[in-house]
Amino acid sequence: MLDEKLEPIYADVLRRNPGEDEFHQAVREVLDSLGAVIAKHPIYAEGALIERLCEPERQIIFRVPWVDDQNRVQINRGFRVQFNSALGPYKGGIRFHPSVLLGTIKFLGFEQTFKNALTGMPIGGGKGGSDFDPKGRSENEIMRFCQSFMTELGRHIGEHTDVPAGDIGVGQRELGYMFGQYKRITNRYESGVLTGKGLNWGGSRVRTEATGYGAVYFVDCMLRTRGQSFDGKRVVVSGAGNVAIYTMQKVASLGGRIIACSDSEGYIVEENGIDLELLKEVKERRRGRVSDYAKLRGSGVIFKPNGRVWDVPADIAMPSATQNELTGQDARTLVKNGVIAVGEGANMPCTPEAVRAFLDAKVLFGPGKAANAGGVATSALEMQQNASRDSWSFETTEKRLSEIMHGIHDRCAQTADEYGAPGNYVLGANIAGFMRVAEAVRALGVI
Ligand code: NDP
Repeated sequence: MLDEKLEPIYADVLRRNPGEDEFHQAVREVLDSLGAVIAKHPIYAEGALIERLCEPERQIIFRVPWVDDQNRVQINRGFRVQFNSALGPYKGGIRFHPSVLLGTIKFLGFEQTFKNALTGMPIGGGKGGSDFDPKGRSENEIMRFCQSFMTELGRHIGEHTDVPAGDIGVGQRELGYMFGQYKRITNRYESGVLTGKGLNWGGSRVRTEATGYGAVYFVDCMLRTRGQSFDGKRVVVSGAGNVAIYTMQKVASLGGRIIACSDSEGYIVEENGIDLELLKEVKERRRGRVSDYAKLRGSGVIFKPNGRVWDVPADIAMPSATQNELTGQDARTLVKNGVIAVGEGANMPCTPEAVRAFLDAKVLFGPGKAANAGGVATSALEMQQNASRDSWSFETTEKRLSEIMHGIHDRCAQTADEYGAPGNYVLGANIAGFMRVAEAVRALGVI
């Protein structure tokens, strides 16, 4: 039940953003936590403050024309939603996936605003992307697409304005083509305009690993509140992309056993633990599928096309692929099989019904806004290095990441305690993130 002061705000979001279900879901999830805040601090219900937080500052939609290898002209749609810049330049990744719609980017930009606030760093929230499908495209097609995308996006971004990074379908290769085109258009070596760059052209150590490592640190902090650790635990991860791979790597280094992971074609189960070096070789270097891993690995591993990776019994689940990939039914299966902790590496991977099922069963649940904030936090560290023309060691950067994740965990836990809901990291993350953005928005006046 929404607070009665928040109901009209949500109704307005539904009316003004028709058909954008994911955006509605993300807004609703935050508003559900804010009743307690406005009861305690009525000032936040004034000045259309919450309404302003639900309305992006700017939404850019553009045509991305490019020529494929058969000399045919292709058209995609590009987006950049500059959601909120009260705390700093807009900051958030770019997603290339055929499912991308304006509502997808709005939900991600909204989430990003509160996530970035939670890190305590000076970054606002934004997100971008395109319905371009990189799968099956040649290297040259990817380059031409990225160049065309940046030709338009370039005029809207800048180190003090808006700083994109990668996300689904956008890794270092795509960022390289985009950075190259930006540099060409502007005739400036403005390293701080994008993050997730390669190490020898302005990137930061640990950025590639940061989201996955950070999610594991967060879950580790949650486990410690109950005297537990990853050591000896069975862990299931969904996805096999950037976040999933480095989640698995860090889990393994803490003594956990990775039993299963997936991609959009199916999942693999290996009771003795997945061979991460081989998986990295297949996914990162050969750009292959988890089914290719199963073929190369031979006996001991099972590939299940389609199906639910969450049917595999696990102590800890780390959904790291995409939004709404873990349903209420999946959550009930995990709970029945004895799951003790869930950390969202992806953005909004658990449906609202799944989140409720975990909270009701007293499973430790780390929401994406908090648990996957290590990626953007390390992007902010990359911006710091770019601004000072410096480059930090792996150890220094990882130490910063670890401190930031501990800080986020403690902020969420303390806020949940303060609001009478100990152990509820969803409430803690939403309220702590909201308070920081809301304070800045109020201070800056009606702009
Ligand atoms: P990648 O593109 O590297 O990997 C995505 C993985 O998820 C792939 O294995 C992909 O499988 C799978 N996947 C994607 N879409 C779907 C779908 N619709 N159905 C089933 N599987 C799917 O992306 P990232 O690892 O960077 O991102 C994963 C998640 O983490 C996203 O929610 C992203 O927003 C979030 N995130 C990422 C951050 C980062 O630093 N990269 C930071 C914070 C959050 P396939 O290859 O078959 O498509």
